[in-house]
Amino acid sequence: VILVIVSRVMSIFGKPTPSTKAMTNSLPQNLLSLDLANRLSFNSDSINVASTDFGKLVQSKPQAVLYPSSHQDIQNLVKSSYTSTTPFSIAAKGRGHSVRGQAMAQNGVVIEMRSLMNCGNRINVSSTDLYADVGGEQLWIDVLNATLESGLTPKSWTDYLYLTVGGTLSNAGISGQSFLYGPQINNVYEMDIITGRGETVTCSKHMNSELFFGVMGGLGQFGIITRARIALQPAPQKVKWVRMLYNDFSVFTRDQEHLISKNIDDNGQNHGLDYVEGSLMMGIRLSSLNNWRSSSFYSKRDYRKIISLATTNDGKTNIIYCLEVAKYYDDLTANTIDKELEMLFSGLSYTPGFKFTKDVSYVDFLNRVRIGELELQKQGLWDVPHPWLNLFIPKSRISEFDSGVFQGILRKYRSSGPVLVYPTHRNKWDERASAVVPDEEIFYSVGLLQSSGMNDWEYFEEQNKEIIRFCEKVGIKFKQYLPHYETKTEWENHFGAKWDLFQQRKTMFDPKRILSPGQRIFSS
Ligand code: FAD
Repeated sequence: VILVIVSRVMSIFGKPTPSTKAMTNSLPQNLLSLDLANRLSFNSDSINVASTDFGKLVQSKPQAVLYPSSHQDIQNLVKSSYTSTTPFSIAAKGRGHSVRGQAMAQNGVVIEMRSLMNCGNRINVSSTDLYADVGGEQLWIDVLNATLESGLTPKSWTDYLYLTVGGTLSNAGISGQSFLYGPQINNVYEMDIITGRGETVTCSKHMNSELFFGVMGGLGQFGIITRARIALQPAPQKVKWVRMLYNDFSVFTRDQEHLISKNIDDNGQNHGLDYVEGSLMMGIRLSSLNNWRSSSFYSKRDYRKIISLATTNDGKTNIIYCLEVAKYYDDLTANTIDKELEMLFSGLSYTPGFKFTKDVSYVDFLNRVRIGELELQKQGLWDVPHPWLNLFIPKSRISEFDSGVFQGILRKYRSSGPVLVYPTHRNKWDERASAVVPDEEIFYSVGLLQSSGMNDWEYFEEQNKEIIRFCEKVGIKFKQYLPHYETKTEWENHFGAKWDLFQQRKTMFDPKRILSPGQRIFSS
């Protein structure tokens, strides 16, 4: 009776509401006697939010949602599952920007990590040692803003900054800087992890390294990241942001590979670009140029030029390949930046007259996707299903991938969203981490970032399946990024030579298979 009254009163104030009804389910009754009880919510609003994600393709209902007010709440929750005779599953949820339920926990408990935002400053910058200690729940945009106050910045990024540190480190965290610095997981010195045994462990390359490397790209399987020490460097002020257009895929990739071959010397001096990506422009119409990655880059006059480049004599449209690069600079190098770029671009074979340059602040460059997001939100086109497929393709097969997929399958189907394609170096990925990449020194990251209407996402899923079938048929040894599989055999194939180690790490750090069940790697 007391619980029912408490529940009613708390729901009036919109706080988490324990209810006796909820506790008749399979969660251990002693949860409500723990200190965290009043931060556990069973109300339908909380459950609904935790049952969906950015992808809007799957739904999975937890029994409860924890809004932790401290690291201790998370540890107590995991411990209570680990020590129970009937352990329940637990998923840390960052921003829930996964697309296939990876941060969900069917019948378990979802931890809304962002709730830790309310417990004081959780981004601490060391200007002398060039690192920032940040909570796993922090958004990269907030890490950027905090580090810039000291004139510093992380080195490696994702295209979109409204993702949590814990969420991207559980995958890898890639963007156009990865060819230079490796993915975000290669730019972390140390972490605090709450393992599936409910223990807090500090780890690094040299201390508890098995856990450290396990968690890097570990899809949330070994522990919950509550703190990560991120490598920093001095921040530039401005960015030359350049796009060059190509009709020919082999010329486009040759230039991309040439640009990523320039690297940092032994004195830490970068002689090349700071960012190299690429994308497809397909079925060109004004609206398709104005997607969330392109918006506000081109002028109206540029649009018309690009459309004419894409249109063939018989009125059809070709695919245009867009090479996108950036070079950072500041007051000291402002006089020489244009000359430097000219030298870097000499020998490139983009279509003459199709180089477009913008001069923007460092923050505006890194935060470029946000403008597109806000625009789509206004039009009601952001919170829609996202049947995405992300693949790593070995360099030796990328031209076949272009013929079969870009020029073949994608032309057959409707395309709706950015398609990214850019190369990176395997030697920038630490072999000991859980993340897996193809077995070739250069591989391409391909992102098919489709959006669909509420009822036609299966159309794009069919397209994704056809792409996978094509790769399998012609023997392209791809790896999925942000992977999603249905069977144990598929996961075994995905991890390949790392599968045994991945399983051993699971037994070591989460023997009761409590954590991140939404990845569907281990059944509990
Ligand atoms: P969630 O979706 O909440 O969680 C993802 C997984 O990590 C789950 O298994 C969850 O249980 C686990 N997890 C979450 N927090 C923690 C924690 N603290 N400790 C341990 N495990 C945890 N990715 C790139 O690499 N590069 C990009 O450029 C890029 N751009 C994107 C743009 C958009 C618009 C979107 C929606 C996604 C993009 N992604 C990109 C993918 C993104 O990095 C992943 O989906 C990432 O997991 C999202 O972070 P999140 O905080 O929303 O994680």
